[in-house]
Amino acid sequence: MSEAGVPVSRVLFVGLGVMGLPMARHVAASGEFELVVHDVDAGRAAEFVAADPVAAAGSADVVVLMLPGSDVVERVLVGDGLLAAVRAGAVIVDMSSSRPASTVALAERAAARGVGYVDAPVSGGQVKAVSGELSIMVGGAAEAVERVRPLLETMGTTIMPTGPVGSGHAVKALNNLLSAIGIAGAAEVLTTGAKFGLDPKVMLDVINASTGRNQATQVKFEPYVLSGTFDAGFALRLMVKDLRTALEIAEDTATPTPVAHAVVEAAAATLAANQDPGADHTLLARWIAANAGVDLHEATQRAAKGA
Ligand code: NAD
Repeated sequence: MSEAGVPVSRVLFVGLGVMGLPMARHVAASGEFELVVHDVDAGRAAEFVAADPVAAAGSADVVVLMLPGSDVVERVLVGDGLLAAVRAGAVIVDMSSSRPASTVALAERAAARGVGYVDAPVSGGQVKAVSGELSIMVGGAAEAVERVRPLLETMGTTIMPTGPVGSGHAVKALNNLLSAIGIAGAAEVLTTGAKFGLDPKVMLDVINASTGRNQATQVKFEPYVLSGTFDAGFALRLMVKDLRTALEIAEDTATPTPVAHAVVEAAAATLAANQDPGADHTLLARWIAANAGVDLHEATQRAAKGA
């Protein structure tokens, strides 16, 4: 059963972490939706109307999930019984970076109950979540996607349909693989340059005016790596999860990915050395440099002092 054309008004938002909290604020600020929220960390929900998710699910038009990944999404939807409580005609929107295979299986269970399922992972990090300018890649039936589009538009400026359910999660994992390759490549190049005697900041400026530039060199290296702060706001544990998803897609499609394997190995080793759940993904660059006995922050400081 579907409700094409029926406006979505009641929203249950589950998961108010680094990303979910500012995203839910945009939903609330739009004034277009009746919003109730839930997070296992009750303090994260303090500024909203908090609700028991299973109790609230029955009256929601849309259930948004912004959770760490598929393991938690499955626990919340199946283990905790949220999926069974969502009413027919409603739509579940998983905005987490989840595994496509899990998403497809959950969408089938939802469809059997007349519940729509859309995967709508995001890109842009905490900065764009706060500004409401996320890029959102959306997999799912066109009718369900159109129903939730006004809701997605409160959180993002670029809404890109990617195909059937699961396709958004696939492209998200593959995007994050490329993003991690960019970080690892930049770290290797800057480390090699530092060993040669180049100033990392000068190198970065040259690269950013040249063909080697990428999002990591343009946006991440100066404020989070050369600065030594490693606080870009995307957890290393989440990046490793996304990289494993990307490798799973490569394996499922029999695609040889030697570069991806090397980067995932480096990221996994970085995670093994940085178990704090808040450890940032930019630590991958520090790990690669440290393997060569280089600290890019110190090398930058030394060069700035003319040492
Ligand atoms: P996070 O770890 O900061 O937030 C997850 C939230 O889910 C936490 O508040 C946690 O308390 C809550 N939670 C955990 N288990 C729960 C449960 N059973 N019921 C209710 N709430 C529960 O993660 P984040 O950085 O906000 O990322 C969320 C998702 O978005 C992840 O899939 C991540 O890969 C993806 N993502 C993150 C970024 C980023 O830059 N941080 C960018 C794009 C996509």
